[in-house]
Amino acid sequence: MSPRGWALVALAGLALALVVAAALLIPWNRPPAPRADQLAALGDLPADQVARSREFRAALRPGGYASLAVGLLIALALGLTPLGSRLVELAGRPFGGHWVAQAVLGGLAVVLVADLVTLPFSAWRQAVLTRYGLSTNGWAGWLVDLLKSYAVSAVIGAVALLGFYAVIRLAPRWWWAFGAAGAAGLVVLLSFVLPVLVEPVFNRFTPMEQGPLRTELMAMAARDGVPVRDVLVADASRRTRAVNAYVSGIGPTRRVVVYDTLLREAPPAEVTAVVAHELGHARDRDVTVGTLTGALGAAAAVVALYLIGSWAPLLRLAGVDSVAEPRAFPLLVALVTVVGLVAAPVQALISRRVEARADAHALALTDDPSAFESMQRRLATINLADPDPPRWEYLYSASHPSTVERMAAARAYAREAGR
Ligand SMILES: [Zn+2]
Repeated sequence: MSPRGWALVALAGLALALVVAAALLIPWNRPPAPRADQLAALGDLPADQVARSREFRAALRPGGYASLAVGLLIALALGLTPLGSRLVELAGRPFGGHWVAQAVLGGLAVVLVADLVTLPFSAWRQAVLTRYGLSTNGWAGWLVDLLKSYAVSAVIGAVALLGFYAVIRLAPRWWWAFGAAGAAGLVVLLSFVLPVLVEPVFNRFTPMEQGPLRTELMAMAARDGVPVRDVLVADASRRTRAVNAYVSGIGPTRRVVVYDTLLREAPPAEVTAVVAHELGHARDRDVTVGTLTGALGAAAAVVALYLIGSWAPLLRLAGVDSVAEPRAFPLLVALVTVVGLVAAPVQALISRRVEARADAHALALTDDPSAFESMQRRLATINLADPDPPRWEYLYSASHPSTVERMAAARAYAREAGR
């Protein structure tokens, strides 16, 4: 069988593994709380607060969708015309067109162009966040964060590009197999290593001071069977007013991270509810499952890119001879961009189901539905979330159940517990 035939077999196998993993590991049978409860919850929220959140979301929308559209257009313009391949050539020219220069500098140039074209929309977003008082870091802080994230992406991108095109040169016929394994490995590595390496670039972490809250959180984690090494406080307030918490690391490195904004804004019972939700993610191994399915998806994507990218009409459009040359990188970016836009609602649906399970875990662990509900109200108020967003937007991009869904879930829990 030819490498192409094997690639088809591998793709079918990976797709099957993904479907099986998703069917077994995603909590599909977790329908949202009844709509009547949601509407009742919505009615209980202050009307002016709901109006302000909706105004804020409406202000973000034009820039957000324009950014998606322009990002797609530029990816297609670079990938499906010879423009992109010429850009890669241009980047490699000072080095005599050496493949390393084309692969690394050309690849980064393509990504940089896409970033720069959508930069005005990022600035728009920052302006809206500042106008509504959510962003606190100012334009200088925003720019520093932007440059830091460019630097982090450039380092990771350069290593990935160099590795990818080195593999292609070493195994011209079977690169897709090594590439798939490498992409899967990279997803695993980034998922476990990145938080530890990258978090400190953006935030400073200090152990939470000794006291009843810290004791309660450590005890709750132990009771839940997910012992944590420490509870850390992140200095998120220098960038944002938004509140959040998360659990990162695995096994002996697991720690709870709480935004200082959350400690400032919410009473201890609500902080406990947030952390209980995060412990739910740790207990159900949501990060591990996400990493595993992400790794399978990345491997499948490399094989699919090899198969689709070898299609002659696409190569002609891109002005290249083979998908394996660095000049074809813009074509790969175009394909990945399209797939990303199409896959977004599926990813959002999976994320919402997983988040709903973590909510249920938090309710059961704390047995305090009223703290859970007031925490949801507070999160929505501070983060200016639309408590009941438009259906189409919810289906396309909501990573969490809506505020009214989460409030309704707390009420359903209270009812079942007989309270
Ligand atoms: Zn969550």
